[in-house]
Amino acid sequence: MSCLMVERCGQISFEGPDQNAIRVHMLGDGRLRGQTVILSERRGSYPLIDLRLLNNTTQQGETGSRRKLKRLLSFQRYCHASRLLTGLSPHTSLHLLDDDYHAQAGHMLSKVGTWNFDIFLFDRLTNGNSLVTLMCHLFNVYGLIQHFQLDMVKLHRFLGMVQEDYHSQNPYHNAVHAADVTQAMYCYLRESKLAELLTPLDMFLALMAAAAHDVDHPGVNQPFLIKTKHHLASLYQNTSVLESHHWRSTVGMLRESGLLSHLPPEETQDIEHQLGSLILATDISRQNEFLSRFRAHLDQQDLNLEDTQHRHFILQIALKCADICNPCRVWELSRQWSERVCEEFYRQGDLERKFDLEISPLCNQQSDSVSAIQIGFISYIVEPLFEEWMRFTDGSELTESMMGHLRKNKARWRQLRQEPQPGSPLQEEVEGAEDSGTP
Ligand SMILES: [Zn+2]
Repeated sequence: MSCLMVERCGQISFEGPDQNAIRVHMLGDGRLRGQTVILSERRGSYPLIDLRLLNNTTQQGETGSRRKLKRLLSFQRYCHASRLLTGLSPHTSLHLLDDDYHAQAGHMLSKVGTWNFDIFLFDRLTNGNSLVTLMCHLFNVYGLIQHFQLDMVKLHRFLGMVQEDYHSQNPYHNAVHAADVTQAMYCYLRESKLAELLTPLDMFLALMAAAAHDVDHPGVNQPFLIKTKHHLASLYQNTSVLESHHWRSTVGMLRESGLLSHLPPEETQDIEHQLGSLILATDISRQNEFLSRFRAHLDQQDLNLEDTQHRHFILQIALKCADICNPCRVWELSRQWSERVCEEFYRQGDLERKFDLEISPLCNQQSDSVSAIQIGFISYIVEPLFEEWMRFTDGSELTESMMGHLRKNKARWRQLRQEPQPGSPLQEEVEGAEDSGTP
């Protein structure tokens, strides 16, 4: 396979005689050396995104089996498989860490229920295995391994697959974000309003959904997939494209790992279905739909947490809160997340500029500052949801603490930039999505 690669972030190269195959090198990990791509050996770093995956109109010249392989595998595992097929050795992980690191990670886990848990530090201490380590710990805490009679080898295999399928080259939508959401979810599950009423199945679903809710995220949003005619956009009919993919990928990995193969088929089916319902709730374009329902329940005081359906609804809300809780963290952690998410937006904007596509809202580094994006996000998305969560938890200590951080962080961003006027790009995007029914 002829292959010309580039060194700089964001550059594009062509391969194959018809130049149909366009590759975009998202990070600066690749090196040009003759005809061979030398990839970074850093754990989990797969810097190549093949734009053939983002455009189903450019598949001429490929063999049927190769096409089939790409359909079956996730973005991430396709890149991984490609590397193996082309004779490149798989990455080497540092399995052995200094005992001191293990001790420090263990010490952090003893405080995993605290809101100022530093997931970035935890990820470093676990050598990039924060998601697997955290999930195994929480499954033990809740006795889920014993309750569901889970096979530890299969559990590790499944969690390893999930973690690997997150794209470590994404500044935001990577396995550390998944671990962060899982840790936040754990904090919410411990709320006194919920803790005593949750069943093992509730806890299993909540943690699994949090861990897998963004798996194989390509680092671009749904409108980008639609306008580049990605096959996932047509598969899911331009609706909740990414969330549907995260869910179906999770189901695929559950089946592939055999984690639940010992359970009766009806039970497995129910778990798969509920995971879908939880993951699909994270679609931000459905924010107002969930918020209105939540508000109505709180106004009417008709939530009965002994009712399975009501508990499921609260788990959907809890996952939504966990997914967007970055501005409720202490400033130092919150700021890092803000910069990461904006970096991911800007990379999409750079891609759009390169391909002469219209630059998406919030993705233009020249006009959309981090502070403006954050103030809009806090005002239109985060505050309205957390105000209702505050009512639901009866102003718990944790919620009070989150709201305190939220206020301080917003003020901090305001110091960096004046308050945006109504009609900011973010508000328009959310309202537009609601109007059109498609995000
Ligand atoms: Zn997420």
